[in-house]
Order: sequence, then C-alpha cells, then structure tokens
Amino acid sequence: MSKTLIQNARIFTPGVPSFLGWLLAEDVKIADFGENSAPETLCNNVDEVINAKRQNLLPGFIDIHTHGCLGCCTMDADPEKILKIASFHVTHGVTTYLPTTMTDTTEVTVRAIRCVTEFVGKRGNFAKIPGVHLEGPFFNAAKCGAQDTANIRRATIEECKTFLNAGVIKRIAIAPEFPENLKAADLFKDEGISISAGHTNAVYADMAEALNHGFRSVTHLYNGMSSFTHREPGAAGAALSLDEYSCEIICDNIHSHPAAQNIAWRCKGAEKIVLITDMIRPSGLPDGHYPQADGSEFIVSHNGTELRIPSGALAGSALTMERGLKNFTANAHASLEETWRCSSLNAAKLIGIDHETGSIEKGKLADIILLDDDFNVKRTIIEGQTVYIQD
Ligand SMILES: [Zn+2]
Repeated sequence: MSKTLIQNARIFTPGVPSFLGWLLAEDVKIADFGENSAPETLCNNVDEVINAKRQNLLPGFIDIHTHGCLGCCTMDADPEKILKIASFHVTHGVTTYLPTTMTDTTEVTVRAIRCVTEFVGKRGNFAKIPGVHLEGPFFNAAKCGAQDTANIRRATIEECKTFLNAGVIKRIAIAPEFPENLKAADLFKDEGISISAGHTNAVYADMAEALNHGFRSVTHLYNGMSSFTHREPGAAGAALSLDEYSCEIICDNIHSHPAAQNIAWRCKGAEKIVLITDMIRPSGLPDGHYPQADGSEFIVSHNGTELRIPSGALAGSALTMERGLKNFTANAHASLEETWRCSSLNAAKLIGIDHETGSIEKGKLADIILLDDDFNVKRTIIEGQTVYIQD
C-alpha cells in the first residue's frame, strides 16, 4: 500500500475553518489529516513526503459541463480525443469531469455516449469520467445559444430509452416548458440522473412545476434561458429564488457580469453554486478562425478567452476551473473559505458522487489539488497519485 504525506498545507474541509496542517493518503484514499505537523510515527513510514509550502489544499475540481478543447470534442466519439481532453483537464486541477454532448442527431449522440462510457472506471494521468452529460437535444429553439436549432426537438420516451441503453448518463439538460419533456424527465429521474433546466424559455410557473419532475439545477444560469423581469421572473428568477435549484454558472466575466455573479452568490449561497467551464473544441487554442467539418466556424479572440460563432453568439467558453473560481471568489466579495465548495463538493452532490469524492474527508478518495494564493494549480492528485505538477 502506497503512503503519501502532504505537510504544511492550508487544508479546506467541511465544518471547520481552514487550517495549516498535514494530510496522509493511503493507497487511493484520504487516511487522515490534522493541524500543524504530522505525528513523527507517521513521517517515518511513508513513501513520499510533499511540502505544500503553505499552499491551499482543496478537493480536486469537478467540472460537470465541459465539451472539449485543443480541437477535440466529446461529439467526435473518438477515444484518443477524449483522452486528450481529460489530460488537459488535470493541468487545470480537474480530477473528475462529465464529457458533455451538444445537440445532434440520435445516432451521433448515441455514438458519443458509447465512447464516453468506455472511460467510466478507467484511471491514469487524466481526469476521471463517471459518465456523460447530455446537453440537449430536448431544448427550446428560442434559447438555442450555440446549439444547432435543426436538431432541437421534443423528447420521446423511445429516444430517451435509446440514450439510456447506450451507456452511463449522469446528467441531462432539458427545457421544462414542454409536457413531452417533463415525461422524459420523469424517466431520467427514476434512473437517478441529475436533471437540469437549460436552453429554456420557461416562465416561473414552469420552473416551479419542473421541481415535481426531478429538476434540481439550471444550466449556465443567465445564459440560454428566459431572463429575470419583475413581473415574470423567468427561468433565471426561478433559479435564484427557489431553494431547490442549484445553479451552474460560467464565471469568465463574459457570459455573466461580475454583479450578476454577485447576485447569484447572495441568492444561492455557498452550497448551491456550481462553477462550470462549458469549454468547447477551440478552448486552449490561439486566436483565429476555425472552420469546422460541418461548415460552421468558431472564432477565438482576446488571447484565447472569448469564443463566438460568426453570428456573434457566444459559443461556450475558454474558461478553466481555477480562473472561474478566482473570478467568482472576487465577484462574490468572498474568500476561498466560503467559495471552495462551488468548484467541487456542490457538483459532486448534484451528480451523486459525494459519498466518495468532492471534499477533504477521511475515507474519501484522495482527489486533491494544491492551489497557490493566486489560484494557480501547482499539483493535481487523483486517488493518491500525483498526475500533474507545476514547478
Ligand atoms: Zn455547454
């Protein structure tokens, strides 16, 4: 059994203020941790000692909404590309992620689900994949964003069963304002799948009703949904006011204004905000125009931080989790002490993996990152194994 001791780390764990201390990983799990220095008996008996130099020790990031990067996309249904994406993630502190589909035909979607499912349970120098996130195709074309309107459709039970039979689905985004879509949600709910209201023109009443069909979160709050107004609070207003809803949010300061992020923090608090990247194919590439095989085009600008399609619509983001956490913490006028859950534990709870990962607690998997005070990822550890170091 391999033993790794991390000394001199600022440890963030539920229930107590962060403290300087040590953590022992035994094999794949967190065996113990405590304040100050580790007991001497422990120090003699380990395979590796890591000096964290007072950096922040957090649970690894969990990104539940991310499509691709470096020219690769979940929709390519190519194992080599999934591996490339998953390897990129660990360099940004992500230890678990859900490869996320885009609206497409049944056939193409099924191929993507099958490909992702091959990675469930695999371990290596790449982020872990518990299953797939279906972003669509059961949306409202009026709020399509960068999703392909030609393939947006109402749900049928038959198509939902086809998806379920294709592999492991952990999360699905659906527009809840259509009765057919609510029936589909009932089916996914019975399978224990996390259901999110997204690309939706729902009014407040639709969002309240959706709670009865298993919806517990919204897809990128503010984007691709009916906006808040004082007479009709829309999907955004419902997400902010109904406690049951967790809110995905893209904190690149492009998809949502810093003040809108601050409002989300004030309404939802530390346990219902789920930071996501929504990274897409050109993320991680330099500025330029990237024509796609299907005739569409992505435009990367502003030093790789802004991604649009030629119509000018945002196409997803080039955000990384550590930058999202940094932006959100600043925009919330909060400290890491208050916001750390938003990049790990809240997501783990939403997709039902918090019994084994998502926080620094004894007996959980040693999925850990070290983050310096400027939010740079210095080390990523997955199940006790270091998979990334930045010196
Ligand atoms: Zn997306």
